[in-house]
Amino acid sequence: MFQKEKTEAVVLSRQFLGEADSQFILLTNQFGKLRAVARGERKILSKMRGGLGLFSWSEVELVRGYRQPIITAARPKMLFSNLSRDWSKFVIAQRMSRDIEALTPWDLPDENAWFFYLGALNALNLIKSHYQRLYYYFLWTLINSWGYQIDLHHCARCGGQLQSEICFLVAEEGIICANCWKANDQSEEISPNTIKILRLIASKDKTRLGRIRTSSADRKNLEKASRFFIDSIRTDQDLSSVN
Ligand SMILES: [Zn+2]
Repeated sequence: MFQKEKTEAVVLSRQFLGEADSQFILLTNQFGKLRAVARGERKILSKMRGGLGLFSWSEVELVRGYRQPIITAARPKMLFSNLSRDWSKFVIAQRMSRDIEALTPWDLPDENAWFFYLGALNALNLIKSHYQRLYYYFLWTLINSWGYQIDLHHCARCGGQLQSEICFLVAEEGIICANCWKANDQSEEISPNTIKILRLIASKDKTRLGRIRTSSADRKNLEKASRFFIDSIRTDQDLSSVN
């Protein structure tokens, strides 16, 4: 009943339990996202300490069969140490990890999400600038890989070519032109530059994505539109898990 299993894992988040234990949410290559407990992990002499830092990529031994899997060993494979040294990188790594935690289902391995998340942590660890862009590249490519794609060239209602004007992102439909938009639509404004950035991400054009100039209003809009879209996906997922 109690099986010992090895998997590769990244710590998405952690919570202290009692005096020396910790509970982790891990993304693993074998089992997908899971909750696991490490007993005595916070003791100074614990062998697991080095392998269970936030965002570190480790080989983990788990005993499954209890209510929650128990971590019995953790050996670091790659620490991505710049992510904890550089505050602005840390913030982006934390956002990526929160999105992975929020958007991936429990106990369902997803090889694509695993490699993509590891690759994004590795890139963030190495790059010298454009952290925000890497974040949105990560986020939208991940969402697209799950089949949530929006037409970035045509209005979802009239089919007309999107002009360079403010349009509207409508939940469950996509981008709607100003003519088709109705005041009672559940929507968020989406600016021409946000649409341009999303097109570069969709075409994986990292060179032009690195060069595009953005204002602070553009960056705010990209963030708002991204959150709006993610919230509509999460509602969709919640509904499908109820049915
Ligand atoms: Zn239209």
